[in-house]
Amino acid sequence: MIVASILFSRLFSSVMNRTKWTVGKVLVRAKELLREKGISQHGRDAEEMLSVLLNLSRVELYTSLDRPMNLEELEEYKAMLRRRMAGEPLQYITGFEWFWKHRFKVTPQVLIPRPETEILVAQAIAFIDDTKEPSPLVCDVGIGSGAILGSVLADRGHVLGVGTDVSYEALKVAKENLLRLKVMERCSLVCTCLMRGIRPEERFSVVVANMPYVSSSEMGSLQREVAMEPRIALDGGPDGLFWISQLVLQVAHHLKPGGMLAIEISPQQVDKVKLLFKGKGYDGMKVLKDHLGRDRVVTVVRTKER
Ligand code: GLN
Repeated sequence: MIVASILFSRLFSSVMNRTKWTVGKVLVRAKELLREKGISQHGRDAEEMLSVLLNLSRVELYTSLDRPMNLEELEEYKAMLRRRMAGEPLQYITGFEWFWKHRFKVTPQVLIPRPETEILVAQAIAFIDDTKEPSPLVCDVGIGSGAILGSVLADRGHVLGVGTDVSYEALKVAKENLLRLKVMERCSLVCTCLMRGIRPEERFSVVVANMPYVSSSEMGSLQREVAMEPRIALDGGPDGLFWISQLVLQVAHHLKPGGMLAIEISPQQVDKVKLLFKGKGYDGMKVLKDHLGRDRVVTVVRTKER
């Protein structure tokens, strides 16, 4: 801590001594500082923050190593570095994350979209393509940043969407992202817990959800960065399945016969999740693995003869 703060002040003290800080020199020092703090991807993080600040791509940074940085830029970069050194996720500092094919705005009010959640997008799109419905209705329960629904709507222009979230702040972020993707005119957002505020007669072809599924015991041992994400988006109660089980109850009324529910789960929950659907009028259950080979997504289809 002390070593880091000495190094940190040195990074900028020589500015006062009129030493020229260039992109190259600043990057070397910033990477050292982040490494000292035990940040595993220190190189990527230092570069990403600087490229956002200077509005240069990471490749352009490397062709601008001799570009001098002015005092204002140095101050701003210092503030970003301080936040990252305190464990704040990179994406909250830069303000965005890439997901599927798009850049989504993220704030500390929403979960940062993860690559494994792209499985939900792929499943929803494949299902929609298969059904060949003229204008299928998709519901994203707990929409957060809007990454899932935004990706589906952007890829398939005939799809209509509904997104729900109990967090009004999250819905504001989702709306910004959906507007930027130019899909907001095909979408409505509802501030409600799961599907409670949806009209009883509404039936969806696809329901996707990345519910909070971290169990209470795991909540205490989250990685420093994850612990700074909204608890409301992570905490799934004692066994992590509180919200998923609520959704399974509510979704029964809102899925068309032949419609699909796709949910993200924690790999340890797969057997319990399978039981939740048993004898409840679903078939064609699929369990999909993430890029690390862990069970991550469960899909079921509402039985047709209902
Ligand atoms: N993927 C998150 C994690 O690894 C959990 C997200 C969630 O609860 N839906 O902690």
